[in-house]
Amino acid sequence: MNETTNAFKMAQQQFDHVAEQLRLDPQVREFLRWPMREFHFRIPVRMDDGSMKMFEGFRVQHNDARGPCKGGIRFHPSETVDTVRALATWMTWKCAVADIPLGGAKGGVIVDPATLKLSEKERLCRGYMQKVWRSIGPRRDVPAPDVGTTPQMMGWMMDEYSKLAGEYTPGVITGKPVGGGGSQGRTEATGYGVVYNLREAMLRLKMDPSKCTAAIQGFGNVAQYAAIGFKELLKGKVVCVSYWDRFDRTSYVVSKDDGVDAIFLQSITDQYGTIDKEKAKAAGYKIEDGSVWLQKDVDVLIPAAIEGQINAETVLQISDKVRIVAEGANGPTTPEADEVLKNNNVFVIPDFLCNAGGVTVSYFEGVQNDMNFYWTRREVLERLDDKITEAFKSVYEMSEGEKVFMRDAAYMVAINRVVNAMQLRGWI
Ligand code: NAD
Repeated sequence: MNETTNAFKMAQQQFDHVAEQLRLDPQVREFLRWPMREFHFRIPVRMDDGSMKMFEGFRVQHNDARGPCKGGIRFHPSETVDTVRALATWMTWKCAVADIPLGGAKGGVIVDPATLKLSEKERLCRGYMQKVWRSIGPRRDVPAPDVGTTPQMMGWMMDEYSKLAGEYTPGVITGKPVGGGGSQGRTEATGYGVVYNLREAMLRLKMDPSKCTAAIQGFGNVAQYAAIGFKELLKGKVVCVSYWDRFDRTSYVVSKDDGVDAIFLQSITDQYGTIDKEKAKAAGYKIEDGSVWLQKDVDVLIPAAIEGQINAETVLQISDKVRIVAEGANGPTTPEADEVLKNNNVFVIPDFLCNAGGVTVSYFEGVQNDMNFYWTRREVLERLDDKITEAFKSVYEMSEGEKVFMRDAAYMVAINRVVNAMQLRGWI
């Protein structure tokens, strides 16, 4: 990642921009520009062939003024501490904007999980927990899955923590499998949250969702349920999804002019988000270059893969027809591209509002773990819809009231809430 797309620099730039508008005290700015705590460590893992391999890991806790830190753990070959710092910072704003009583953190390991055997993955997960367990916990910092990690991995990590802590502690980690302390509705939460946000945006922009089309980047957890929800909840049409092919090491777009069937595509996608393109072709899908998702003549773009995808260069390829960019991924748009979208009057639903569904249901999971009482899927999704609708409303009203772009408005709502908690606790 180069200087201009360094995710942490981008997170700081976005924060500085709004801190300036809010005339935030310079000392408070300095407090919030950097994480509170960082852990960098190396994890030794015994591989199946008997050799020992070292993996580099991180846990970054950005701020816990509003409650215990919260944030996923990524397993990715190009993970960097700056990406983890950026994601931890965004988690602080995300929890605040969703108005859930949690702070922000993130973790990561530099690894391509697709290269590990199941038993090696389990040892890496347990090894990660052995390094961080003293610094996390239901009242300190609660991890969750993210890119490259799965509910099963959360189950192993919860088990390892429980062994080390000497008691069953399901609330130490969320995104666990249902039946193993997980919540109903967690799998679809982030994607459905994107769709609830889109519904609210379309209502304000007077767009009829059933006449709208969307192009999606990615076909992992977020993208799959955003695609399913766009069709099932809004009755709209998704014309393409894209993915990173882990065998060809290149990205592709899978499209169909009359709309993709996300449930079918899900059935031919592996757990790393790679679609079987031969089966897709056989079912009448067109396979195109990975970059064309951004150039489609659609009403809505949903980047739901990785950060920095809409940048100074690619933003110029976006069709004039596009009215909404719904950021399913974290940090998909660079500040330079943001300016272009703003000037072109594109309505952006910023990442930490748009993808807050996952952390909201993660919070519900922790609440259910605490009570040892579990809600139905319907109850979870209704509560999620209420939270997202309320979060969208507060950001939209800030945006209208202050005459600012939605991203700035989301920052304003979030920063005000975090600063208020810091003041109430006597930190500043
Ligand atoms: P995932 O690992 O399930 O899926 C990632 C998808 O992106 C895969 O389909 C992969 O093939 C695709 N991809 C990767 N690089 C690509 C490229 N260059 N071009 C096209 N596709 C590419 O991950 P996920 O959980 O769906 O997360 C996606 C994004 O959403 C990340 O930014 C993550 O931080 C963010 N997010 C996830 C959650 C969650 O609950 N899973 C919550 C909030 C935010």
